[in-house]
Amino acid sequence: MPLMEIERPTAAQAAMADVREELARRARSGSAGACPVELAGALVGLCAAQSCGKCVPCRVGLAQMAALIGRILDGGADAADLRTLERTARAAYESADCAIGYEAGAAVLRALDGHAADFASHVERGRCAAGSREAVPCRSGCPAHVDIPGYVALVHADRPADAVRLIRKDNPFPLACALICEHPCEVPCRRGVVDAPVGIRGLKRYAVERAPEAFDPASPASPAAAPFRHPATGRRVAVVGGGPAGLTAAYYLALMGHAPVVFEQRDRLGGMMRYGIPAYRFPREELDRELGWLLAQGIEARTGVSVPGDVTLTALREEFDAVYLAVGAHAEKRLGVPGEDAEGVLSAVQMLRAIGDGLQPDFSGERVAVVGGGNVAMDVARSAVRLGAASVTVVYRRRAEDMTAQREEVEGAIAEGCDILALHAPLRVVAEGGRVTGLEVQPQVIGAYDRGRPKPRAADAPPVTLPCDRVLVAIGQGVDSDGLIDDGVPVEWGRVVAGLFGQVEGLPGVFAGGDCETGPATVIRAIAAGKAAARNIDAHLGFSHDIRFDGDIPAPAGGGCGPCGRADAPERPAAERRGDFAPVEGCLTDEEAAQESGRCLRCDRFGLGALRGGRSLSW
Ligand SMILES: Cc1cc2nc3c(=O)[nH]c(=O)nc-3n(C[C@H](O)[C@H](O)[C@H](O)COP(=O)(O)OP(=O)(O)OC[C@H]3O[C@@H](n4cnc5c(N)ncnc54)[C@H](O)[C@@H]3O)c2cc1C
Ligand code: SF4
Ligand code: SF4
Repeated sequence: MPLMEIERPTAAQAAMADVREELARRARSGSAGACPVELAGALVGLCAAQSCGKCVPCRVGLAQMAALIGRILDGGADAADLRTLERTARAAYESADCAIGYEAGAAVLRALDGHAADFASHVERGRCAAGSREAVPCRSGCPAHVDIPGYVALVHADRPADAVRLIRKDNPFPLACALICEHPCEVPCRRGVVDAPVGIRGLKRYAVERAPEAFDPASPASPAAAPFRHPATGRRVAVVGGGPAGLTAAYYLALMGHAPVVFEQRDRLGGMMRYGIPAYRFPREELDRELGWLLAQGIEARTGVSVPGDVTLTALREEFDAVYLAVGAHAEKRLGVPGEDAEGVLSAVQMLRAIGDGLQPDFSGERVAVVGGGNVAMDVARSAVRLGAASVTVVYRRRAEDMTAQREEVEGAIAEGCDILALHAPLRVVAEGGRVTGLEVQPQVIGAYDRGRPKPRAADAPPVTLPCDRVLVAIGQGVDSDGLIDDGVPVEWGRVVAGLFGQVEGLPGVFAGGDCETGPATVIRAIAAGKAAARNIDAHLGFSHDIRFDGDIPAPAGGGCGPCGRADAPERPAAERRGDFAPVEGCLTDEEAAQESGRCLRCDRFGLGALRGGRSLSW
């Protein structure tokens, strides 16, 4: 027998691995600003390069798709070419022999469907519509379109109060977002092409930390204390709900010269930021600092007033010129399994609301099972650890990697001692004498994809019982709709139905937005909804006020383009933080913030930002 050579990576293989890594980085970053037709063409080209050429739909079809997309990009295509592209992609999808061909066909079909307007714009007008919408990737990724390169440059120039003022042009909650924003802006950050996205949220945290005067309404020293305000219009707007959506709308309406009045059913403002997000991520003193500044900008708040419990929507419509409904999604979803009414079963909403009201439940020595796989489940699990639970097990019916919770939240929970029991679905709450003693769960097998995610099914294995003293249910929330429906507000699938501009059909002058309209989402999405509501209510009242930032943005400093590690905020050790509700995360140092802000590639001044305008100082 001949000897067998030990294979070692060749220089060519190492080079190709680098190219693959580079491709993956590019695919992950900067996509928000890219032309979807170009991207589809690049993907088809890559697939064609991988084709073995044995089956016709792949060999001929991919080449034809690449040629058709090339013609569309060159401006030489017509509507018949678009139809041919669609037919060719479908043929590849339906008849190619292997995944290289049929997945390429599927990708083109998805692109044609999802970006129909962009394909049409290339064919009809010979230009791309996407780039003009999304010139700066991070800003496109932020739902409120905060001027990120602007505030990062102000941090770099050691002007943190101006950075806060610039953020407030688009987002009146810089402090909240510095602490708890899920930072979708970082996903498309172009710096990812070089090494890793800029730590955008961390730099916001640094700015708010270094500019305490920007949160002191009485500080005359701070320019941040005096945003531009339009003269009073005499118009009054009722805002129902004092969460981020309602307060954002109220803030911008106040700057536009109107008189907003916020009606909040609970004793304190803040919505889920107070009654949901735990204090170890968002300390309540910080929330109060942010709200104190906001309210001083001309917002009247009436707490402890429920709509329609204490005042009806009809009465509000008679008294005010417009009404904005931003009541969030606070109705808990039930498991729907036997035994759910046993003592010891608690919904996430009930538990976190009690903590928000200052009533800390005592879980000392208890074994806790948490049902769910989202961020709320992680918050509930990590809070249970801090409330003294002897053990916390998160029960999830899919795989751990399918959890919708952010990776860092899952890792934080595990580091603090929570167990994850993936691929187990609750069957029954086991109780003795009316009190929980266990949770019976059915092992699952992960299966075929359904609506973009692999779906679990019951495994051919017997149920098991997880002994526990408490079951915490965190499987989502819906809008508390009873009163709203009585007042004529359309509600479907647990959400208020509103039009493209937030208008509620059949109720002129009534608008809705935030979690109550989208379903449970994020603070920055609620802020974006509140911002749009202010603009649309202003227009409804017959005005066209702008919101501005009066100031300058520093020019790019130059340099800083070579690969450099990303500096993240420090966290307290898990063993220490699991015993209290004090903040987990710290702040970047001056040295780290200077380096991190210097990593920004200033896409407002380079790339499409330079060509199509990376900035507007008003909206
Ligand atoms: C546990 C938990 C953790 C979360 N963590 C994060 C996070 O880390 N990052 C993030 O971005 N998002 C997070 N979220 C989501 C985020 O908090 C919400 O998406 C956001 O607060 C929604 O804002 P909103 O203004 O639409 O509604 P809400 O914040 O729910 O505010 C609605 C307000 O309306 C009031 N209201 C309700 N009904 C009435 C009525 N009939 N009359 C008068 N007032 C009424 C409510 O009391 C409440 O104050 C979390 C949510 C939960 C539950
Ligand atoms: S608010 Fe959130 S998404 Fe927007 S810039 Fe800040 S961290 Fe990014
Ligand atoms: S490099 Fe800077 S401007 Fe460019 S996307 Fe990232 S944060 Fe935004």
